[in-house]
This record gives sequence, C-alpha cells and structure tokens, in this order.
Amino acid sequence: MNQNLWAEPRELTSRTCDVLIVVPPFLELRYPSLGAHVMQACARAAGFRVRVFYANLLFAAHIGLPRCASLAEATMGTFLGERLFARAAYGVQPLGEHADMFSPSRIYGNSVASEIYQNEALPYAEAYRLEALQTEAQVPAWVETVGKYIAGLGISVIGATTTFQQTAPAIALLGAVRRHAVGVTTIIGGANCEGEMAEGIRNVAPFIDYVFSGESELTFPEFLRGMAHGKPPAGRIVQGKPCNDMDAIPTLDYDDYFEQRAASLSRADDVAVGKASLPYETSRGCWWGQKHHCTFCGLNGEGMVFRSRSPDRVIDELRALTARYRPATIEMADNIMPHNYFSTVVPRLAAELPGLNIFYEQKANLPRERLVLLKRAGIHVIQPGIESLSSELLTVMRKGTTARQNVALLRDARGVQITLTWSLLWGFPGDRPAWYEQMLAILPLLHHLEPPGGFFPLAFDRFSPYFDQADKFGISDLRPFAGYRDFLPAGAAVEKVAYHFTGTYRCAASEAPDLMRAFNLAVGAWQALWAGRQPPELRIRKYAGVFCLVDTRGLPGCRPIEYLSAPEARRLVVSEPYDDSLEQRSLIRRNLALHLDGCFVPLAVADQSIFMRLNEAAAIDLPDETRTSRSSHRVEKFAPNVAS
Ligand code: SF4
Repeated sequence: MNQNLWAEPRELTSRTCDVLIVVPPFLELRYPSLGAHVMQACARAAGFRVRVFYANLLFAAHIGLPRCASLAEATMGTFLGERLFARAAYGVQPLGEHADMFSPSRIYGNSVASEIYQNEALPYAEAYRLEALQTEAQVPAWVETVGKYIAGLGISVIGATTTFQQTAPAIALLGAVRRHAVGVTTIIGGANCEGEMAEGIRNVAPFIDYVFSGESELTFPEFLRGMAHGKPPAGRIVQGKPCNDMDAIPTLDYDDYFEQRAASLSRADDVAVGKASLPYETSRGCWWGQKHHCTFCGLNGEGMVFRSRSPDRVIDELRALTARYRPATIEMADNIMPHNYFSTVVPRLAAELPGLNIFYEQKANLPRERLVLLKRAGIHVIQPGIESLSSELLTVMRKGTTARQNVALLRDARGVQITLTWSLLWGFPGDRPAWYEQMLAILPLLHHLEPPGGFFPLAFDRFSPYFDQADKFGISDLRPFAGYRDFLPAGAAVEKVAYHFTGTYRCAASEAPDLMRAFNLAVGAWQALWAGRQPPELRIRKYAGVFCLVDTRGLPGCRPIEYLSAPEARRLVVSEPYDDSLEQRSLIRRNLALHLDGCFVPLAVADQSIFMRLNEAAAIDLPDETRTSRSSHRVEKFAPNVAS
C-alpha cells in the first residue's frame, strides 16, 4: 500500500482541518456518503473545517475491485461487512463464528427459512467463505496502516459514520487511530447509532469518546463549538434533535469523494465502478407512516414526522450539484417522495432540468398519469413499496394499498418505461396460507411485468410497530438475529447493537412451508424469464394501422397474436369496476385480466403513445352521452390517489 495513501489534491492536516469524518468500508463505491457530507456542510456553516475521508475507496483499491464486488454480493443477513472487520474491531476470531453464516435460517433470522430456501446458498458457500477468510487476513494490517496515517495527520477530532454493515469497520479504524494518537477525540454517528443502538456502540467500543444518536445537524456543530471552548458534552451519548427546517442544511460539497476516488482507483477500476451517483435528500420521515405506520417498517427510526425541502431549494440545489459533478444518477434518499411534489418539483424537473436520471421511493398507489409525470421528470427508477399482491396481507401490513393498485402499477410502469425495484414479503403475524395460494396462482399471468427482487421473510426491525408493540401483535421472545452473536465480542449487549430481530409467533409459513418453497421457486422462475434478452410480453401494438395483442407468456390456450378493434384494445389496458359481464368474465378466463378488489384489472401493457391513441379513439367512437359518463369516470380513476 502506498504509505501516503493518496496524493491529496488538497492538504489534509491539522493546519487545514479541524475534523475528519471517515467513511469506512463497505459503502457502495459509486456513491459519496450523504450523512458524512451533511455533517460536513453543517459544521462548515458554523465555521469548522471538516473533511471526509473515503476509507472504503482505499480498502477497495487494496483488496482489488473484483474481490470487493464479489464480497458486496453477500446478502445482508450474512453480516459479511461486520465479520470481515470483527477481529480488528473486537479481537474475536477471523469472521467471528462463521460455520453457519450461509445457513438460510441464520441469514433470514427465520427458523423455517432453511426449508423454504433449500440449498439456495450452498453451491458457492465454501468457495465464498474461503475468499472472505483470505480477505479478512489482510484487514488487521490495513486497519493499522490507515489508522496510523489518520492519527499522523494531527487532526484533533476524528469521526466515523456507520450505516448498514459499517459498525465493525468504523470501530476498527477509530480504535487504530486511538492507538496511534492517544489524545485525539473519537466520535461516531449514523443510522446504526440511533436510539438504544448508541448505548450498544458504547458497550462494544467504550474507547469511542462520543456517540451521536439520531439527526445531528444541530448537535454536531453545537458539540464542536463546545469542544472549541473547552466545554465537552456532559454525557458520552449526544442526543440528536430533529432537523425541522431542511432548507437550513447547506448545499453539499462532494469534492472529497471525487478527488479521493480519482486518486485511489486506477483508471480501469474507476470505469468498472461506473460514473458516480449523487445522493440527495428532499424529505425525512414519512407522511403515510405518520398516520398509519406500516407494521414492519423501522426505516424512519425516531424521526417519523414528515419534513421536506422547499421546491425552489430542491431545484436550485439539483441544478448546482448536477452542473458541478455531472452524475450518472441522482439517488433520492427519501423513504417516500413528498406528494405535493407532483404539482411542484416534478413538473419543474421536466421543464428546468431535463435529462436527469433519478431514483425515488414512492407510495405504490400511483395512477398512470402520475407515472407519466415522473417519467417526464427523469425519474426513471422508483421503489414503490409493493411488498405483496394480496390485499389481505397489505391490510395486515397497514400499507394503505391494494393488490389491484399494485398490479396496475406493475402494468403501467412497464408501459411508461419506468423501472421498479420491489420485493415480495412473507411471514407476517396473522397471515394465512390461502393468501399466498391466491398470489401464487396469478404469478404466471404477470410474467410480462417486472419481477420482484426476491421473496423475503419479514424481520422485526427496530423502531417498527412489530418491534415496539410486539405483544400487541402476538410476538413473544423478541431476540436479535443469531448472526450478531457470531461477530460481536463475548458479553456484548447484542440486543442494543442489533437492528434486525426475530421472535416467536404464528404465521402461514410455519403451517405451510411447502407452499412458501413453491412460492419462492415461482418467483425464481419469473426472475429467470427476465434474465434473458427478451422477457415475455403481453402488449398492445399497432401494425399497419391495426391494433393487436401480442402474448408471449406461453400460458395454456393463449393466442400469440390477436387483432383488435380500438375499444377491444382499450379494454385490455384500463382498469374498471367489475360488473360480471360476459366480456369481463371471458377476458379473465383467458388470463388477460384479473378480478381483484372488486375491480376488473386488465394486464396488457401499452406504451404511452399507444395508450393515448386508444383514449383518443375511445373518445371519438363514443356517442356524446356515453362519452360524458365514461370520461368523468376516467377522471375519477386517474385523480390523485393519495391514500393518506
Ligand atoms: S414502509 Fe414506506 S410508507 Fe410505510 S411507514 Fe415505512 S416509509 Fe412509510
């Protein structure tokens, strides 16, 4: 390793810097750290010189990008990021106890998972474990070198950020800094330090001087002011305060990321990582969860109250950030897009900042008109929180959406060419096998729509209603995922460090594991169809002025191509109330539509140009009286459907 680590384009010493915030492995290399740069911006505004140090980039360069990418493929529940740094952080054996690290029941924290995911991980587990052990062998020396380097900079406050699996890496690096610079003040913050987890961090790393719990835009500059005046906080945990004015957060400066990326990655590695994506945050909390907290969701921590940036501020900052950094994508960190943005930010993105490529989490009840608005605004990828195709299960989750809306979203997103990232969940207290049977029966009909990323078991996440009110949901014996005990030191307060928990409760999976295994295989089959170059189609096309339905799903009795009149074609793409007519029953029997939640939900995809033509044709074909009633019905269907 280059002992200078990198040739800093800007001097990095106590002469130029008051605080250094370390971004430990493993954060995706494509992104700067939002949290670290928010703290940097807030402290700078208060007059402190703060730099961000991308140790994750250095580690990737050290172990090699292919290995880094391979290790990043490990599923969350293996805790591989934590295991790789556990010896350096806590002095446990390499990777901690790792004999069971790939067992599905350990990965998913669910005792029936081994039956459901039978043999899924085994073919590569041994080779993968060996690769992880080889990498781990390099970690202690790397941590020591980097810690010594950072200590040698002479900066008086060294911090680290931790989200997902960065806690052991952060503790290992701060420990090495402390060994080489006894007088330095060490601090840590980030999502893994929120609430009781701050005590957990103190428990496993008592040498860290201060742990920042929760939102720290206000408390971090206050802390630095106190330290500068010889008035450190009374306690070792600095409790956060909600940032109620998001416009008060200064515009972020991501220069440290871009400079250090250029200095630490070879040209080939830089190309392999891909053009940078910029994280941006338009809101915090959740406007839906504030009223109906989804039972499984711990995403908002202790900050559920919804707050958002003003539209002017969003547009101005995105204009400045994209002009300066030219990112491949903007990744919105919000848990849900502010719904008033449909009339403010979204149209302005389309008009004022064309050509962006944005990812945004959404609520799933999006009518087609809104998808069109998102697409025009450059929001090409959304995560709509679909979670299930059973209205009963969605009610149990308190999602405020229905199977009908979710299927329509899958259909319309494909028509509008918006990519969805979504998953199906199982294992909810009080769920029923019949709900999964009903879903399983319709999956083959949906093979032309974007498949889920997987079929995953529920975990009881900290801050969720299932965690906070376990008794109310019939959950007993709430306990951390077993994997945490593998890598944390003996005697650690594991229940305070952990975010994912399991418990004892009744659910359909324990009654019907065979059904769940069949469901998981069906999801795998759907994904496999999309892994090829030509996923199945059920699509309205227009050839030589004639509408036709192309169906390559290969279902029994389906016709590969069928010519249609405009009204027939329109009936296959627009949801309507279910009226039990012969026509609706026939289309449902032919697997071209579903009867869901009292609605007739057709399944064919139509590109926006075809969809518009079908609507125009329908308007021309209808007699005046009918047009009035049908078009007002259409307006009602397409009206903003804000479930809150
Ligand atoms: S799952 Fe999504 S909609 Fe539900 S509370 Fe969490 S962030 Fe809000």
